[in-house]
Amino acid sequence: MSIQVFGVPVSRGVAIGRAVLVASSRVDVAHYYISPVDTDAEIDRLRQARDAVAEELSTLQRELPADAPAELGALLDVHLMLLHDESLSGATKTWILDRHYNAEWALSAQLEVLARQFDEMEDPYLRERKADLEQVVERLLKSLTRSQRGATAAPSPRDFAGEDPLVLVASDIAPADMLHFKGGVFTGFVTDVGGRTSHTAIVARSMDIPAVVGAREASRLIRQDDWVIIDGDAGVAVVNPSPIVLEEYRFRQRQSELERARLNRLRHTPAVTLDGESIELLANIELPEDARSALAAGAVGVGLFRSEFLFMNRGDSLPDEDEQFEAYRGAVVAMQGLPVTIRTVDIGADKPLDRMSAHELRHEHALNPALGLRAIRWSLSEPGMFRQQLRAILRASAYGKVRILVPMVAHLREVQMTLEALARARQQLDEAGRAYGPVEIGAMIEIPAAAISIDRFLPHFDFVSLGTNDLIQYTLAIDRADESVAHLYDPWHPAVLHLIAKTISHARAAGRAVSVCGEMAGDPAFTELLLGLGLRSFSMHPAQVASIKQRVLRADIGRLEPRAAAVLASDDPAQAAQSLMGQVQ
Ligand code: PEP
Ligand code: MG
Repeated sequence: MSIQVFGVPVSRGVAIGRAVLVASSRVDVAHYYISPVDTDAEIDRLRQARDAVAEELSTLQRELPADAPAELGALLDVHLMLLHDESLSGATKTWILDRHYNAEWALSAQLEVLARQFDEMEDPYLRERKADLEQVVERLLKSLTRSQRGATAAPSPRDFAGEDPLVLVASDIAPADMLHFKGGVFTGFVTDVGGRTSHTAIVARSMDIPAVVGAREASRLIRQDDWVIIDGDAGVAVVNPSPIVLEEYRFRQRQSELERARLNRLRHTPAVTLDGESIELLANIELPEDARSALAAGAVGVGLFRSEFLFMNRGDSLPDEDEQFEAYRGAVVAMQGLPVTIRTVDIGADKPLDRMSAHELRHEHALNPALGLRAIRWSLSEPGMFRQQLRAILRASAYGKVRILVPMVAHLREVQMTLEALARARQQLDEAGRAYGPVEIGAMIEIPAAAISIDRFLPHFDFVSLGTNDLIQYTLAIDRADESVAHLYDPWHPAVLHLIAKTISHARAAGRAVSVCGEMAGDPAFTELLLGLGLRSFSMHPAQVASIKQRVLRADIGRLEPRAAAVLASDDPAQAAQSLMGQVQ
């Protein structure tokens, strides 16, 4: 039966593929195709892992102390039985043979199928055996990882042309985990939770594949291997579509591929409006290697490098100064003399560090994480870490044009402390005889307090960058990651537009460069309005550069300015923009 699951559209286009359900705890399981000629070897790898785990469990059983509770021995029996059960081992082999999944992927695919069956069992005792099954699979996965490491030649991900396309379905995926899937086998995503500008959605968008988040029941309603259409424009996932619906979507998919190819031709066209204004189109990146896509998309620099992604998903350790320096230098060198704006770490809220203690995490979840120890607040509370990052950024500035961007400033005291930390970092580099170049320093304007008192901040900075994602969240008191209030997260709200307009006009009047690096910059629905409000610099995911450029090339700023003023004065700016600029889609 075909069903539809509705959510929040976050990344445009249509993806059609078979569902791969991934539990949040297993996102780092390797997903790649093996060559059909290697299936026997892969099944052998699985068999060896099973034998190794059987040996582990038998040893545990043999070595049980005489006074160990009887349940422990019985539990190990259950684990051994599950390990050899045909529904696990036989079916996992089928995933390898029929679908050419690598062993780890096949195993987690089968676990999802069996876990669903356990969830549906009436008998509570049997239902609880799901946890045992998960433990057995964890052991198998660990054993496979060990055998992988020991192997002389790691299997190479094969070109998956000819295989069924795949879409990822998960309850939730942390932003840093999302990076595991970059450049991988998935052609679309659906998650149960998340809002339009949650960081998970932002990373999905940066991969430029259709995605829907906040589709609340998706991971319950969609089954492993179901055919799913992800409509990233409407925010809907169609499960097991009828042939006629499928054909309709295939048509739309072809149309959007053609449109994409057409837009790509604008890559090297300078972004100049009809009345001759040059507009700076910059890229947002998460990792140094993303700089390549920024250049390929025709961006003229990086307007936001979210450095916190270097700090996440790495257990207890943080990147040291040299590791950070290498990462920043990598991006700077890759951009070949174009500017790279490195934002100091914005940890906290939906981007926690692994090393945060259980207490801190509990605390964060119980209270208001987005209002907590985040971004510059956390950096200033860890002065050693902060200076280390500043030194690493400064050192990278010896290799190209670097700008430092400070997230979430709200107090002038934070500005003073940041500038002091920067001066100290420079002094330390001088003492160590290390080279660095000139850097500009800028502030993210993303807390209403900073936008309202923008004139007090401007004298201390070379530039400012509007973080509209957080500015909307904090102005409207709407958690950007919470799908239950996603419908109230309104970038068109007059209060939001006034703060944006004020920041742009005051920055320009003070002779400071001003950019937008929140998701609004990459949304074509806002291009004309932002141009009319005086914005000349936009920073967005590389994939969005071409469609924003297209809007810029058709814009006449002289005509847009009075219309933007009228939109701002309206009680219903979205409606006004629609009728005055024809831009809301
Ligand atoms: C923003 O808040 O708009 C922004 C660009 O920063 P982030 O999305 O990383 O919070
Ligand atoms: Mg922000």
